[in-house]
Amino acid sequence: MILTLKTGVSKKDVQKIISKIKEIGYKPSVSAGAERIVIGVIGEKAILHKDTFEAFDAVEMVTAISKPYKLVSREFKKENSVFTIGKNLKVGGKQIVIIGGPCSVDTRENLLLNAREVKKAGGTILRGGAFKPRSSPYAFQGLGEKALQMLAEARKATGLPIITEVMDPRQVQMVCRYADILQIGARNAQNFDLLKEVGMTKKPVVLKRGMSTTIEEWLMAAEYIISRDNHQVILCERGIRTFETATRNTLDLSAVPVVKHLSHLPIFVDPSHGVGVRDYIGPMARAAVAAGADGIMLETHPHPAEALSDAHQALLPSQFGHIVKEMRAVAEAIGRTI
Ligand code: PEP
Ligand code: MN
Repeated sequence: MILTLKTGVSKKDVQKIISKIKEIGYKPSVSAGAERIVIGVIGEKAILHKDTFEAFDAVEMVTAISKPYKLVSREFKKENSVFTIGKNLKVGGKQIVIIGGPCSVDTRENLLLNAREVKKAGGTILRGGAFKPRSSPYAFQGLGEKALQMLAEARKATGLPIITEVMDPRQVQMVCRYADILQIGARNAQNFDLLKEVGMTKKPVVLKRGMSTTIEEWLMAAEYIISRDNHQVILCERGIRTFETATRNTLDLSAVPVVKHLSHLPIFVDPSHGVGVRDYIGPMARAAVAAGADGIMLETHPHPAEALSDAHQALLPSQFGHIVKEMRAVAEAIGRTI
């Protein structure tokens, strides 16, 4: 349930309410909005204590959250969540962030060149896989910590914050030492132990949609992270499995307005994995911006033929630059910036 406090309540009043919540065995989650403070009281039977909290002078209203996910819901927080990545990049605001970089990190030279090209073309975050979830155990699995070190070097050279996937709870600490943003991949979207583990870090997390998870299941996965007190969760639509085989996945762009309606969290779109065909990525990237995405993730490689994973969908720097320009025009048309 949500406690909406009256405007201008004192810290002492808030503290009293928090103590009461803890006393009856629930976990308070405080969100200070522009006008009011709201406190989430999370627990299955919390609403049974409605009268207790209505009796507090500082409480204006007690409402049940109707959805199974609580802290990620718009009911809990009306304003969009905005996070700062790295030094000063805002995610979830007017600016649409652009992530570029290889599917997997291969050589230092390729990565540094890629990072410089991404930056030159207007990219704002560098991606690169160090631990790769591959369908075949015989396929390239990523360079692990060596790749993380190269990513850190590329960040130093360009100033771009870095995002990389973490696949296993045992890798979380190590990946946190290097990355600015943790990525949970589609195949781990419902790996609840991993979600809990990244929920205990202070790093922003990009949570990809599982290839067969519904939007509700996806938001529940985000709730796993936020309920451990890491509120910096960004959702990322990357295509779902359907009967269609012309594209690698079916990019569900309707998820963007649906998520915006149901949740206050930022949402990115990854057209590279969404369609998996180089020529279709640009049109879907433009469409994603038009649909309201807060960020776009694109796979790039200076020499796609050398890429050790997803070579067929890697964009050349020039193609990436062209798509960024087109996305910028769409962004401006809807009052946003790139
Ligand atoms: C990736 O971003 O490289 C990746 C493996 O994506 P997904 O988890 O969406 O398949
Ligand atoms: Mn990939």
